[in-house]
Amino acid sequence: MKPVIGITSNIDATSHTLQNTYIQAVIAGGGLPIIIPTGVERDVQQLTSLLDGLIISGGGDMNPLLFNEEPLQQLGSVTPERDTNELTLVKHMLALDKPILGICRGHQVLNVAFGGTLYQDIISQSATPLLQHDQKAKREHPTHSVHIEKGTILESIANAEKILVNSFHHQALKDIPSPLIVSGRASDGIVEAVESTDHRFVVGVQWHPEALRQSDDQVSIRLFDAYLKACQERMVAIGYH
Ligand code: MN
Repeated sequence: MKPVIGITSNIDATSHTLQNTYIQAVIAGGGLPIIIPTGVERDVQQLTSLLDGLIISGGGDMNPLLFNEEPLQQLGSVTPERDTNELTLVKHMLALDKPILGICRGHQVLNVAFGGTLYQDIISQSATPLLQHDQKAKREHPTHSVHIEKGTILESIANAEKILVNSFHHQALKDIPSPLIVSGRASDGIVEAVESTDHRFVVGVQWHPEALRQSDDQVSIRLFDAYLKACQERMVAIGYH
C-alpha cells in the first residue's frame, strides 16, 4: 500500500488551486496524493484517519490575529478560513504522530500551530539588511544559501552544511516554541527550516523543494523521499501495509 498524502490547497473567490509540482513530487516519491480543500475542519478526525501524511502547501499570508498581533500596513492578503482548516489538520496529525511537511506558508502554519509567531513582513520589520527572499528568478532556480544545523533531520537528508534554495516569501518565523528547533538559516539570520524533536517527522521549510525537484535538485528529491519513507514506516509500525 502506498502512503496516502493529503496536500492542502489554496482558495480564492471561485476556486481551489494547487500547483502540479506538489502532486508530482508525492507521486515521484511513491505516495498517493489527495488534494484537501478548505472547509473540512469539522470532519478532521475522519479525514486524518484516512491520511498517512500531510503536506501543507504554499500560499498567502497568515492572519496575524492568530498569533496575537494586529495587522501591519505591509501584510499581504489573508485567508482566515484556510488558516483555521490547516491549523486544525496539523493539530490532529501531530496528536496521531503522522508525518507533516510544511512548505513556505506551510512552514509558517506549522510554527503557529505549535504556538509560535511570525514576522508579518520581514522587509519592514528587520533592523538589518536582508537578502532577496522574494526572488525574481524562476521557481526552479535556487538563489540563496541555507546553513544547516548539525544533528538535525534536515542534515541527515541534505548531507551538507550548506545548500542552495529558492525563495518566495515576505513573512518568516519569529518566536519558535519547543519542541520545534531551527534546522536551517539564511546568511541574514532568517529561519529557513524547522523540525520537531518530539515527533516522527515534522519538518518545515521556507523554500519550495517541490519546484526545485523540477531541476533535479538532489536535496529536494531526497527530502520528499525521506518524508514519504517516514509515512511508509509509520504504516508498517502500526501494522497497516
Ligand atoms: Mn528565503
